[in-house]
Amino acid sequence: MSDFRIYNFSAGPSMLPLPVLEKAAAEMTNCQGSGMSVMEMSHRSKVYDGIIKDTEAALRRVMGIPDNYKVLFLQGGATLQFAAVPMNLMKSGKADYAVTGNFANNAYKEAKKFGDIHVAFSSKEGNFDRVPTQAELDIRPDADYFYICANNTIYGTEFGYDPETPAGVPLVADMSSNILSKPVDVSKYGVIYAGAQKNMGPAGLTVVIVREDLLGSYPAEKYPTILDWKLMAEKESMYNTPPTYAIYILGLVLEWVESMGGLTAMAGLAEKRSGMLYDYLDSQDFYKAVAAKDSRSRMNVTFRTGSDELDAKFAKESVAAGMSNLKGHRSVGGMRASIYNAMPVEGVEKLLDFMKKFAADNQ
Ligand SMILES: *Cc1c(COP(=O)(O)O)cnc(C)c1O
Repeated sequence: MSDFRIYNFSAGPSMLPLPVLEKAAAEMTNCQGSGMSVMEMSHRSKVYDGIIKDTEAALRRVMGIPDNYKVLFLQGGATLQFAAVPMNLMKSGKADYAVTGNFANNAYKEAKKFGDIHVAFSSKEGNFDRVPTQAELDIRPDADYFYICANNTIYGTEFGYDPETPAGVPLVADMSSNILSKPVDVSKYGVIYAGAQKNMGPAGLTVVIVREDLLGSYPAEKYPTILDWKLMAEKESMYNTPPTYAIYILGLVLEWVESMGGLTAMAGLAEKRSGMLYDYLDSQDFYKAVAAKDSRSRMNVTFRTGSDELDAKFAKESVAAGMSNLKGHRSVGGMRASIYNAMPVEGVEKLLDFMKKFAADNQ
């Protein structure tokens, strides 16, 4: 095996911690004495039963998930949850959304198929350069839930607080790109969900954390069985075959997070990595940060030179310098450095050195 590793700034699927990959490699052909890879194992086998139960227990420990919440390991990506959220939570047929980016907007559009959806806030006019303050949120007191995208992966903005909702309106958050990056008070949320491929593991797994009392209004007689959270909870994510290998890798990632000091340590590292980049961006005028200062993401740092030609040159030359996927999303342009938990501080140091040199060479 080659030991070449590039600093991969991909927005997702993205870097995994090296010890996780090494352990997975060591267990690839014989996991826990079973004589087989986790990929080859029946999801109903004893070894696999241990893997999925340990993974759930580790997630509960790491995130401090209260006992009255169910943890579901599902498929279909965060995108399928855009539909599953309204399908499972609509009682009166009303829900409110903060539209702060492409994924929030897609979730909003999907929800509109199921009921009366009110836009509680939108930053579309500013090309999604910021998230709202609490005071800007216009949430209906009789909404079935209020929905946010906690970190806007494409634009590089992030909620720095847990929004308050009117009494009885559960808060629902897509945390695909910032879950496991800081301690979260789960009890403030009705539902937290995340596609795994940003900060938890490989693509193919979606984690849903849902407060028990919110289950039970799914119209199972007319909607697909597979999207019923209550049924999936009752069957412990084993109604059908779960994404077995991705769950196993999540277990290894959680083991690594705990070995590093848990979510407080992850938050410290996230502050450090993003702070290094924002401090530099604020100290010069060759590059401009895209996101509004009070909305900046610790996970996805977006910036541009102001010239499409130079942005393209940056993307190209950074690859040659040993860094990949720094090109911004096509809807924003410029550059984006995605710096999730697995990105070492050295990767950001290397990016900073490159940015400084590129600026000097192209002033
Ligand atoms: C990547 C991403 C999605 C889409 O996830 P899929 O797993 O591709 O469906 C949704 N929301 C956020 C915040 C994301 O970062």
